[in-house]
Amino acid sequence: MRIYILSIILISSLLACNTSTSQQTSVKPSTKVSTENISIDVPETITTIEKSEEEWKAELGVEEFKVLRKHGTERAFSGDLLENKKAGVYVCRACQLPLFSSETKFKSGTGWPSFYQPITDKAIGETTDTSYGMKRVEVHCARCGGHQGHVFEDGPKPTGLRYCINAVSLDFVETDEKP
Ligand SMILES: [Zn+2]
Repeated sequence: MRIYILSIILISSLLACNTSTSQQTSVKPSTKVSTENISIDVPETITTIEKSEEEWKAELGVEEFKVLRKHGTERAFSGDLLENKKAGVYVCRACQLPLFSSETKFKSGTGWPSFYQPITDKAIGETTDTSYGMKRVEVHCARCGGHQGHVFEDGPKPTGLRYCINAVSLDFVETDEKP
């Protein structure tokens, strides 16, 4: 059973990789992501934001700058959104791009807000991070490049992924639940 699930995850991720570039042409003109209780507007095309280090420094707080622009990590259990259980959308603190839905947030026990999938694949970019002698997959906002955290393959169903995100990289926008 375990091998079966792992195979499914592997095949799904391979499919996701293979279709990520070709999908761009088939994206609907207006992308409204609807999950069970929340409706989220995601920009149809994500235009990259580029700012100088000085500009980001002026806009962000000290801790925000350290994490978002310098790939820092906040202290475990220090984030203000760790225990947040309200319905809503988690957006990039630097550029407000919607990244995660509260419906995919779960308690991981790690001390950082954890999600099993992003709102859309195109909202999150990934790079291989080899710092500290470890090989990890770093995740960042696809619009401003702001560092969010890392993604691991020990998450819950249905994806088996754990997006381990710094609370300081996120803002929370509460939404009205559908009746
Ligand atoms: Zn951003």
